[in-house]
Amino acid sequence: MIEKASALYDKTVTCPHCETPFTTKRIRSGSLTVAHRDSDFCTHFKEQALNPILYSVSVCPQCGFAFNDQFQKTLTLSQAQEVQQKITAKWTPKEFGSVRQRIEAIVSYKLAIFAAELTNQPHSVKAGLYLRLAWLYRFEANEAEEIRFIRMAAAEYEESYIHSDYMRTDKEMSEVRLMYLLGELYRRLGEFDQAIRYFGKALSFRNQTIESGILRMAQDQWQIAREEYKQKTGMESPQLD
Ligand SMILES: [Zn+2]
Repeated sequence: MIEKASALYDKTVTCPHCETPFTTKRIRSGSLTVAHRDSDFCTHFKEQALNPILYSVSVCPQCGFAFNDQFQKTLTLSQAQEVQQKITAKWTPKEFGSVRQRIEAIVSYKLAIFAAELTNQPHSVKAGLYLRLAWLYRFEANEAEEIRFIRMAAAEYEESYIHSDYMRTDKEMSEVRLMYLLGELYRRLGEFDQAIRYFGKALSFRNQTIESGILRMAQDQWQIAREEYKQKTGMESPQLD
């Protein structure tokens, strides 16, 4: 059993809106044991109360602006005015900087999504927030909310693909990985033709990528999506290009 005290530490961050420095908890990487990884990259740890996604959003106690490390570091004047009117003017000082329960993490993600929409953060940043919020609902076994936010994540990842903004904002995302993830999100939404289309795009990288793990996952999940399509429609799925 890992001591909470040793896995958690205080990180000082500066609010991009009001520029107040404040501390928020983070999880020391390498202090946890992975229990299981889902096919959409959601990681379950043996110590789920210390899952780092609970702590990846920082909420400014002064002005209510919520953000993660991928947010742009400064706001334009018009964005700052929007935040002032729609967030700060309605904010009563609240503390998100200590140990978080899942419900507080969920609130922090909803605040960050609102802030991201108001300040036009890149699609890949919004997509990442929606997907992690869906995972928090998965941990809560709330399938309706999980699916609702997977749908929003898929829409934002699709925009991110169209505008290629993931290349600038998400160091871990490659095109083949994004194609796989979109396939898997659509499969989970029951939109099997879309899923098969994106898995096909991922598999078309066969001779161009060193990410062989992703190709194997795309192959497996494509097979599953084809079977699910057949079960649902009674027909063979469309062929890959
Ligand atoms: Zn602030």
